[in-house]
Amino acid sequence: MPTALITGISGQDGSYLVESLLSRGYRVEGVVRSLSAADLPQNTQRDVVLHEADIAAPASLDRIVSEVQPNEIYNLAAVSSVFRSWQEPVYTAEVNALPVAQLLESAWQLQQRIGRQVRLVQASSAELFGQAVESPQTESTPINPSSPYGAAKAYAHHMVGVYRQRGLFASSCILYNHESPRRPEAFVTRKITAGAARIANGLQDRLDLGSLDTRRDWGWAPDFAEALRLAASAAEPDDFVIATGETHSIQQFVERAFDRVGISDWRAVVSIDSSFSRPVDPVEQVGDSARAREVLGWRPTKNFDDIVDSMVDHDLAMVKGEGYEG
Ligand code: NAP
Repeated sequence: MPTALITGISGQDGSYLVESLLSRGYRVEGVVRSLSAADLPQNTQRDVVLHEADIAAPASLDRIVSEVQPNEIYNLAAVSSVFRSWQEPVYTAEVNALPVAQLLESAWQLQQRIGRQVRLVQASSAELFGQAVESPQTESTPINPSSPYGAAKAYAHHMVGVYRQRGLFASSCILYNHESPRRPEAFVTRKITAGAARIANGLQDRLDLGSLDTRRDWGWAPDFAEALRLAASAAEPDDFVIATGETHSIQQFVERAFDRVGISDWRAVVSIDSSFSRPVDPVEQVGDSARAREVLGWRPTKNFDDIVDSMVDHDLAMVKGEGYEG
């Protein structure tokens, strides 16, 4: 039975990845910042071994990798918000960049010691490309980050390449935005779906948003967790763009969400507040996932409308106290 070690196991993607790996017979261990606060899907809690560590203190990662002796390491822990990375640029580097160097080195040392392959998959990001010089972006689009988040992910991405050259099975999945009912409300998509559900039920008056024009390549988070798993079991390590290849605007997201809750005049309840806009916002991110489709056999299973509808339906059920598990 292969053992997987997941950092960021309690986050959106970690929660889907752990479900997928357990269903395939993996033994799963995870790193969480706090054992008491760790929030894993109920159906997985009994089957997962958790280790408490702040990955900003990389030495503890080395100890955990040595103890667990994983076959596969998935590095998902991160300051995952570009907005927050502007508020805490140094901490973002401590969490999103340096621990990756430690994990790679620990994986390499473990592999040397025990004489079997240790595979590592890094959750990289389209924010690597920042103000992208071409569209759609591929694995060879120049790296040109425009935020502390993107710069820290760029360092991590390069280190994965360095250790791959050294002989470690290390892959980087360049993830475009992906959403689900497990996305926190600090992210615009969930803010919209939760807001629409509450407004429709008289629990909130208005929704304040930044620019409605920003366009994103939005996918379904469980599909993206699946891409990470596929990358770990591929024949060869590589970089893979994981994206739907389609963009939609925030306005289209708002229109679909309010339509789903039965409000046709969304303009009457949505205000545009520029303080929610990001300091530097790449104009259009859209990924070409041809390599992942061909090599990993990966493809998205939900389209834009289905993603918005699933999130809204979840939030309507939450408002009505139905305790829906997304
Ligand atoms: P998420 O929900 O924010 O989860 C991040 C996880 O990292 C959480 O479990 C968090 O634990 C953990 N973490 C943060 N700082 C930590 C620290 N110092 N020590 C230990 N754990 C720490 O993010 P996600 O949406 O699942 O994303 C997963 C990965 O994909 C991230 O690396 C993200 O940057 C990348 N990515 C995501 C997207 C997307 O659209 N979702 C797009 C591109 C790339 P706490 O709960 O304790 O904070």
